[in-house]
Amino acid sequence: MKKILIKNGTVFDGRSVKKADILIEGHKISKVGKIPQIKGAQVIDASNKVVMPGFICAHHHLYSTFARGMAIPGTPAKTFVEILEKLWWPLDRVLDEEDLYLSAIYALGECIKAGTTTIIDHHESQDFQIGSLDVLMSASEKAGIRACLTLGASDRYGKGDEGVKENERFLKKLASESHPLIRAMAGLHAAFTVNDDTLLKTVRISRKYNCGIHIHVAEAKSDEDHSLRKYKKRIVERLAKAGALDRKTILVHCVHINDREINLIKKKDAIVVHNPESNMNNAVGWADVLKMLKKGVLVGLGTDGMSSDMPKQMRAAYLIARDSKRDPRVAFCEAPQMLLQNNPEIAKRIFGLKLGIIKKGATGDLVLLDYLPPTPLNSGNFLGHFIFGLVNATVDTTISNGKILMKNRKILVFDEKKISEKCIERAKKFWKKFEKQAT
Ligand SMILES: [Zn+2]
Repeated sequence: MKKILIKNGTVFDGRSVKKADILIEGHKISKVGKIPQIKGAQVIDASNKVVMPGFICAHHHLYSTFARGMAIPGTPAKTFVEILEKLWWPLDRVLDEEDLYLSAIYALGECIKAGTTTIIDHHESQDFQIGSLDVLMSASEKAGIRACLTLGASDRYGKGDEGVKENERFLKKLASESHPLIRAMAGLHAAFTVNDDTLLKTVRISRKYNCGIHIHVAEAKSDEDHSLRKYKKRIVERLAKAGALDRKTILVHCVHINDREINLIKKKDAIVVHNPESNMNNAVGWADVLKMLKKGVLVGLGTDGMSSDMPKQMRAAYLIARDSKRDPRVAFCEAPQMLLQNNPEIAKRIFGLKLGIIKKGATGDLVLLDYLPPTPLNSGNFLGHFIFGLVNATVDTTISNGKILMKNRKILVFDEKKISEKCIERAKKFWKKFEKQAT
């Protein structure tokens, strides 16, 4: 069994800070404390480093990579729906198998570099749905990143049924094959692009596989307006009535839900995932996650594909909550809580694993950050160091499921430069396809 011994680290174990060594045997942490040399173990010196549990991203879009630097034809989008119509929908329509693999492997490389070892991905590729989740799985396995995959079934181009079929095919495949790093969920794009037939079919497969549903909810106000106009119900009420809410169901954004909807989410113990950088970028408003947390809703953090960097997302959550509330007393505990406590709880529900903690028996997911603090660092002031210092620290080493993915800032599982070169070549062709589709 492979053994990794991490020596002399300043360890934040998910709750408190201490000086400790950590032994990983196989896929799991087997010991934390003072550990002498272990025969046959690969030793990593963590002096001058802070060791934390691998970060978890509760909402990602691996398919979005080629949007970076891409020109969008026509006038700038004025609304959230226009952003979808001018950018994301034409983009996902022209993704093919190779585009998708390269988009995913590049984004997964960024996960490794940011110390994000677990992601919950939400996928869209309307003209390449069947088989698309296999492509994401193969990229995730290559990168060594733990991933829960789903396709957001949508009726926007009349392909909802095909989307449901892809999710069901993939759930069935995972039920019969061993893929330790991979899980699957049922998935829907967003309430306003999903008809009742697709919604009910998705609820059926979610129950059959006990996997929950991953869906965008009330990202813009127009989503709620559409639901009220067409279904005479608010979005969360419509989802609840269809039986879509349970403790594994992830409602992404929830910027425009009202108190009744928050209460319903709490009652069904469903999950909300907050994506502050994306919400600011799309100018859709701030989700009052402080209120949701106060009411006992499990609120986690995602990047929505904006990046793969969870500490920076946490800091964005902290800053926008203070700015929105015009109150400098809020969010100091809540923003780190969403990342360090709630994301592990979400991952436990979805993956059935002990993540986000460094202790005997937990999964061997660790990140080593270069950090020489300017002031004493201890359990009592860790959050101050996390929000104002560690958030900018460089990730030196990333370990996922007991495997070293990056050491001394060098990715070990693939050639990062080669992937970048391949992506650049592919993106040139992809952008031409996109331009044709978008005009
Ligand atoms: Zn999203």
